[in-house]
Amino acid sequence: MHIQVSKLDKHFGQFHAVKDVSFQIEKGHLIGLLGPSGGGKTSILRMLAGLETPDRGEISFHGRVVNDLPPQERGIGFVFQNYALFKHMTVFDNIAFGLRVKKASKSAIQSKVMELVELTGLKGFEQRYPHQLSGGQRQRVAFARALAPEPQLLLLDEPFAAIDAKIRQELRSWLRELIERVGITSIFVTHDQDEAIEVADEIMIIQQGRVEQKGTPWDIYKEPRTPFVASFIGESTMVEEASLLKGFDGFNHLGPTRALIRPEYIELGEHTDFPILSATEQGIVRHLHFRGSEWLVEVEVRGQKLVTYRSLEKETLRPGQEIRVLIHRAYLFNEENSWIEENR
Ligand code: ATP
Repeated sequence: MHIQVSKLDKHFGQFHAVKDVSFQIEKGHLIGLLGPSGGGKTSILRMLAGLETPDRGEISFHGRVVNDLPPQERGIGFVFQNYALFKHMTVFDNIAFGLRVKKASKSAIQSKVMELVELTGLKGFEQRYPHQLSGGQRQRVAFARALAPEPQLLLLDEPFAAIDAKIRQELRSWLRELIERVGITSIFVTHDQDEAIEVADEIMIIQQGRVEQKGTPWDIYKEPRTPFVASFIGESTMVEEASLLKGFDGFNHLGPTRALIRPEYIELGEHTDFPILSATEQGIVRHLHFRGSEWLVEVEVRGQKLVTYRSLEKETLRPGQEIRVLIHRAYLFNEENSWIEENR
């Protein structure tokens, strides 16, 4: 295993910021740390980097414990949201910086910088200064600078947070390709679920200092282990007490206290649209929100609001309309908020 973290713990004074965190990362994988603000993502990253000392726990890179190594000896590259470029240096000199610190030869520096300029799409910009670049270009220089000393781990802390939505979207796919080409193990902190789903091989959901769940974006979406995870990845409606489900097929015997329903688990239609004996419920269309390629429909069933999608061409609904609702699947949780089962 390339990166191994076991039982990491960190207090800031009385505050328990990171609680017994363990995980492993395979070489070349990109892991997204996703979770609400203050959950401990940055603290975990800073301990990996050696910028913060854990109270307990062990961090090892490629079988070697690095707890006692200073940051500069850990072989780590950083790209942080506010990790500014050197303003008085050209793009070339910014990228060359780490190599000069390592006393690389002039020719080695020249060839490495040119390779990275090519890789990050910055050819022709070598002699520009940071203020002569766009935000997206500056972040690409930051990536090139971080990659130049050939780190064994790349830490990315909300690298695109300060960049506007359209460019951020482009940078995500760009980053995904870059990481694949370079083959570097990376950890990416974000609180944007779309960013994590699109970019990461695996996601760790971090909340209140703990890892709530780790898995591929697909696994986490399909099998959320807690209501928190389910509500954090993808859209869903949480049905408290789950009494709403009592009338539906297959949900009777379980006695769940909460159920979580994804939009795609809900079907709307007339009686005749469903097979005979389908356990549909009467609902009322409350709101329709236009989403470009589809409509988001809010429908109320026995006082409970549910959310689903309808593709554009089908859309004939209007607010106030009565409609039959079929829920064919839900995630069910018990009092302890642990996952009971997924029903269909
Ligand atoms: P964000 O997404 O806002 O960056 P995060 O998940 O990265 O949040 P951390 O920055 O790791 O969270 O912070 C976790 C908690 O630890 C927060 O409540 C924060 O206030 C606290 N904390 C972090 N660093 C320190 C510090 N040096 N001294 C005291 N408290 C700290």
